[in-house]
Amino acid sequence: MDCFICDTCGQDVKVYEGVLSWLNKDGELSNFRVTHRDDVDVQRKCEVRSNNERQDLYKVSSFTGYLEFVQDLLSWWTKGFRIKDFKRLKEIMGTLSLYINEKLSTLIGE
Ligand SMILES: [Zn+2]
Repeated sequence: MDCFICDTCGQDVKVYEGVLSWLNKDGELSNFRVTHRDDVDVQRKCEVRSNNERQDLYKVSSFTGYLEFVQDLLSWWTKGFRIKDFKRLKEIMGTLSLYINEKLSTLIGE
């Protein structure tokens, strides 16, 4: 199931190779990106240097990790943070949701 695409190189990202990152600056969350994790062994440098927050893709694409991420967003919201890059965040959340649904469907055999 390779439904994540790297925002830097355009190749498929397996959940254990990926990172979700964003910029947390001046009360705004922006520049949400899914990329490969940098890997010196294969000379891969896809992570976004300017982003200062990151989560492992395998964590955020698990059911509990996804809900924790939503809780984090809500908690920033209550602190008055603004989301500047909502369109991209919405796409990423949609892909995460599809991925989790497919995984759950496989587990229960539907
Ligand atoms: Zn990449």
